Amino acid sequence: MAELDLRTISKSFRDQPVLRDISLQVPDGSFTILLGPSGCGKSTLLRIIAGLESQTSGQVLIDGKDVDHLPPAERDIAMVFQQYALYPHLSVRENLAFALKMRRVPRDTIATRIAEAAQLLDIQPLLDRKPKDLSGGQRQRVAMGRAIVRKPKLFLFDEPLSNLDAQLRTSMRIELKKLQQRLQATMIYVTHDQVEAMTLGDRIVVIEGGRIRQADDPQRTYAAPADPFVASFIGTPP
Ligand code: ADP
Ligand code: MG
Repeated sequence: MAELDLRTISKSFRDQPVLRDISLQVPDGSFTILLGPSGCGKSTLLRIIAGLESQTSGQVLIDGKDVDHLPPAERDIAMVFQQYALYPHLSVRENLAFALKMRRVPRDTIATRIAEAAQLLDIQPLLDRKPKDLSGGQRQRVAMGRAIVRKPKLFLFDEPLSNLDAQLRTSMRIELKKLQQRLQATMIYVTHDQVEAMTLGDRIVVIEGGRIRQADDPQRTYAAPADPFVASFIGTPP
């Protein structure tokens, strides 16, 4: 069964269409990339999936269930943004624990999950530091840790690496791919970076002007672009 099923999602802001008839099925355990130029509607689509924004029409199903009536906190989704949004006054450990405490997860379960996530992300030595004493890459790891400890059904990433320098971005990309394989997690990852899309994705969904232009595996997207836009955006001749 598809973990996530988007059925003809459309969205307008003040009569201005931003998403048009987006239909997409995301299988369990897959790494799906939403790729497209700035302003094409990627973040809006992620926010609709997360419940932070409501669609004008269409349905969002998770595990076959319509979640439109569910607030973000009840959707079992974790989202990682470009801005790390860590709590500055809390230590890394407390940042990781925060959402779990809010959900009244037992104290020893919280400790176990933090230990697991810290090991996976190699951030054990940072647990007692404050965010201001971390580098950009370390902060982004902590932001990912905060998502992992929740063990969500679905991870949503909105250009999480775009604030990092090129070298760090490359190494974080490799780590994220390994992490996804180890957790067997379902991840949806938004980017405007073609290289990132090609290296991370099992499937690339190319969006332009609020419409899906092509949804295919990376090889086919590259070798057989569906239209001139996809061809020029991916960088191959049509
Ligand atoms: P992307 O993430 O692909 O860069 P966005 O989803 O952020 O694109 O934005 C898509 C379009 O919707 C843009 O034209 C943007 O200006 C517009 N938009 C996004 N959010 C709002 C909003 N809250 N109100 C009005 N327009 C918005
Ligand atoms: Mg965006």
